[in-house]
Formats: sequence, C-alpha cells, structure tokens
Amino acid sequence: MLKGPWASRRGFLRASGAAAAAWTLSPAAAQVEVGPPSSLRRLVPAAQLEAAAAQQYAQVLAQARAQGALAPDDHPQLRRLRAIAQRLVPHTLPWNERARQWRWEVNLIGSKQINAFCMPGGKIAFFTGILDELRLSDDEAAMVMGHEMAHALREHARSRIAKTQATGLGLSLGAQLLGLGDLGRLAADLGTQLLTLKFSREDETEADLVGLELAARAAYDPRASVSLWQKMMRVAGSRGLEFLSTHPSGPSRIRELEANIPKVEGLFEQARRAG
Ligand SMILES: [Zn+2]
Repeated sequence: MLKGPWASRRGFLRASGAAAAAWTLSPAAAQVEVGPPSSLRRLVPAAQLEAAAAQQYAQVLAQARAQGALAPDDHPQLRRLRAIAQRLVPHTLPWNERARQWRWEVNLIGSKQINAFCMPGGKIAFFTGILDELRLSDDEAAMVMGHEMAHALREHARSRIAKTQATGLGLSLGAQLLGLGDLGRLAADLGTQLLTLKFSREDETEADLVGLELAARAAYDPRASVSLWQKMMRVAGSRGLEFLSTHPSGPSRIRELEANIPKVEGLFEQARRAG
C-alpha cells in the first residue's frame, strides 16, 4: 500500500509530539531541568523491553539464590532498602506514565561488587558491597536508588538499545525497527544487553538530577548526593569500582549536584515537615 508508510509516519510524529507535550506538562512541578526523553527510544517497544528485563532479572535472582547469595525477605539491609523504595516510588509517576503499571521489586545480592541497578520496569538490585564498603546512610542509599530508578523512568536503556540497533541496521527515526516476528528473538538479546549497558554522560546527569528530586520529595537529604559521590571517589582510589566503570565520578559530577541542591531543598524541607 502506497499510503501506508506515510500514514504511519504521520501517526508516529503526532504520537511523539503528544508525548513530548505530556512530558513537559506532567513533571511541570519538577525543580530540576532535564529535556524531553529521546524520541528514538520509540523504536523499541517499551512493553517488550520491560518483559525482557523482568526475565533477565529473574535469572539474576535465580543465579544468586543458587549460590546462597540472595538476601531473604527478613534481611535487615534488604528491609531497609525496601523501606526506602516505598518512600521513593510514589514520586515516580510524574516522570513516566508507564510506571503506573510497573511492579517495582527490590532485592539484595551478597557480593563484594560496589554496584546497584534498576532495570526497565522497576526491577532493582543492590549488591552488599555498595552498602558495606561505602557505609551508606539511608539518605545516601536513597540517592543511589533514586539515580537508578531515574534511569528506568527516563527509559535510558530503551533509547540506548534503540540507538545501537538503529545504527547497526541503518534505520532512521520513524522506521519500524521491530516486526512482530522479531520480538521473540530480540527479547533474549535485549535481556543480556541490559546488564552490560553503558549510559551516556547526558543520561548520567539526568539520572543524577531526577534521582536527586525523587529523593528530596521522599524527605531524603539532597546533600547526601554529594557525600555519596565523595565516598565513591575515596574508595575508587583504593580499588576498582564496578559502579564507577559505568558511572564516571569526579569534581564536575559533584559540582553539578551541588548546583542543583538548592532547587530541591524546599521540597526536602516540606517533605520532612510533612513526614
Ligand atoms: Zn547511572
């Protein structure tokens, strides 16, 4: 059909225009400034990616369980993390409508790795190394979690994968990347890509700022974002840091956070008084 591609292209543009408007409207009260999410991400269906992530997450947990490294529900550190998540999650909705359907999960894996992640769809894991070695306070752990949640909310994995696939296949924006027949095969690929994904510097800055605001709204002290990265840098001097291999730290990162703390301080004070 001749009309087909054009009709669908117009549909695509209209849809992304509407979405962009919604994005600028819904986090209207947002204090930190981030741009609209990458429209390229639309090349990868969100539901498909979230399903692949859930599958990959289940595998990671099963593997940890088999090694006796999955923290039981009554583990004090896991309870602490889940309590933090419970405070953060209600503030995620303005950042992504999809989060309404997400089933957030938090698990703790016994490992010296100084690392944590949140997969698309809200599947979070912390490694004991990051809690123990950095001796994270609740506020600092909330900063890590907020940052990871922000990656999921801003769909950074989705746009990163879309960019890689689109470049590889020579596709342009608006082309259909995934036919229905490809979905099954891609689900497996996507799942493994999720664990090795490296975000861009811009993604990292966004995650820092959105995470900072999420945490402040949940009454976690925004100044903990600075002490967190200072700890990271101190420990990084003495050993390799998994988190830092994907999260370059440094004075510029800390400066950016410091510059944004005043923007969310009011939210923090308000939340603290209310709580
Ligand atoms: Zn990050």
